[in-house]
Amino acid sequence: MDASQVASVGVNRDTCQAAATCLAYQVYELDDESKAVLLTRNGSNSDESDNPLATAEGFVRIEDLLNDQRVSRETMQALVLESAQACPFNAIIVKDADGNQIWPQE
Ligand code: SF4
Repeated sequence: MDASQVASVGVNRDTCQAAATCLAYQVYELDDESKAVLLTRNGSNSDESDNPLATAEGFVRIEDLLNDQRVSRETMQALVLESAQACPFNAIIVKDADGNQIWPQE
């Protein structure tokens, strides 16, 4: 698995079980239903229906994630992939630039 392929990330709300492993990473928080959402650089999150930085399915591009510490794109890609691999329920979905799912591996 090559982190340089990572282009966007989303959370499957059906499989997210609030294990909260992902909260160790700066781009997640739990919403009021105890489901993980992605924080976006406009101060909103992936669960807000009027957030232009999230798709209707809640996916956010790497460059649109909250990045207060202004780390490099490569660092964000590695962080996202690591967080997805750490989720015990495989609820974090990672896609490449073509929209193909690269994690969890099918
Ligand atoms: S680690 Fe996985 S199951 Fe736990 S809150 Fe995050 S996305 Fe949900």
